[in-house]
Amino acid sequence: MEISNKILLSHGSGGRLSHELIEKVFKFRFSNALLNQGDDSAEFRIRNSEFRMAFTTDTYVVKPLFFPGGDIGRLAVCGTVNDLAMKGAQPLYLSVGFIIEEGLSLETLEKVVDSMAIAAKEASVSIVTGDTKVVDKGACDGLFINTTGVGVIPEGVNVSGSLAAPGDAVIISGSIGDHGAAVINARNNFGLSGNLLSDAAPLGGLVNAILKAGKVKALRDPTRGGMATTLNEIADQSKVTINIEEGKIPIKPEVKGACEMLGLDPLYVANEGKLIAIVPGEDVDNILKAMRQDPLGKDAAIIGKIEAGKPQVLLTTFLGSRRPLMMLEGEALPRIC
Ligand code: MG
Repeated sequence: MEISNKILLSHGSGGRLSHELIEKVFKFRFSNALLNQGDDSAEFRIRNSEFRMAFTTDTYVVKPLFFPGGDIGRLAVCGTVNDLAMKGAQPLYLSVGFIIEEGLSLETLEKVVDSMAIAAKEASVSIVTGDTKVVDKGACDGLFINTTGVGVIPEGVNVSGSLAAPGDAVIISGSIGDHGAAVINARNNFGLSGNLLSDAAPLGGLVNAILKAGKVKALRDPTRGGMATTLNEIADQSKVTINIEEGKIPIKPEVKGACEMLGLDPLYVANEGKLIAIVPGEDVDNILKAMRQDPLGKDAAIIGKIEAGKPQVLLTTFLGSRRPLMMLEGEALPRIC
C-alpha cells in the first residue's frame, strides 16, 4: 500500500493510514527497542534502577475547544495519563506545551487551564514544566496543546498489547462512542438529544483496581479509531484472533441513535474514558467484579475472547453471522481529540 505524497486528514485518524505513516516515516527512521514496543507508552529502566518508567506524549487539536463532558484541557491531561495507565504505570509528572493563535481570549485560555488543573488533581499527577508559543492569526485554530507524561510501573506489573493469548477474555470498561458522538454533536450544532456527553476521564484508579484484582495481560484505551481499531492493534501485536460479540458491547441508546443518524459505526468512534482489558480466563470474574465497583467501570462487560489464529478481529453480529472487523479506513471524524 502506498502513502499518498501529501499528508491527508486520514493520516491523523488513528486508523490504517496513521499506522502506515508511523511505520514508513517514523519507525523506519527512529527505530529502536523502546519505540518498537508499540504500546501506549514506552517502558524503560534508568540504568540499574529498580524502577521501570513509562513515558508518553500526545497532542490535542480537538474542535470545538469546549464540548459537553469536557474540553481540550481535560482531554490533554486525561489522554496522556491514560496512556501511562495502559502500561500499569502510576502517573508522576506531566509537561504541557501550548500553541496559541494570536487573538485567543485570555478568558478562554484561563478556562482551559483551570480545567487542566482540576483534571490533574483528579488523576493525582503534577504538571511540572511547560512551554508557550503564540502563532499568527490563521496559523492554528485557537489553541493546540501537547502533554508529555512520565510514570512509574509497580514491581510485578507487566502489561503489553503483545501479551494476549488464546483463552484470554476481552473486557470493555463501559459504553463505547460517547466522546466522539458528543464532540461531533457540539461541533456541528446538530442539537441531538442533550444527553450526549464525552466520557473524558483519568483511568489510573480503575487500572489500580484491576491490578489488585488479578493478572491483566494487555490494557489499551480505544481513543481515535475506536474499539475496532484498538482491537486490531492488539491482534497484530499479539498475533492472535480476537472474537467479539456485537450483542455484548455496551452502547448508550442516545449514542447509538446519534451514530445511526450521522452514518457512523460506533465501533470506530473515539472514547476518552474507556479501556479494553485482556485478562486470563481464571482472573476474569474477579477483575470484572472489581471494575464494576469503580464508577468508571460500572458498565464493564466481557465482549469476547482471544483464540489461536491469524492476527484478525472477528465480529459475531446480532444475527449470528461472523465478519472481519478491520482497522478504521479513512477519516469520518477529524480533530476528535
Ligand atoms: Mg492510547
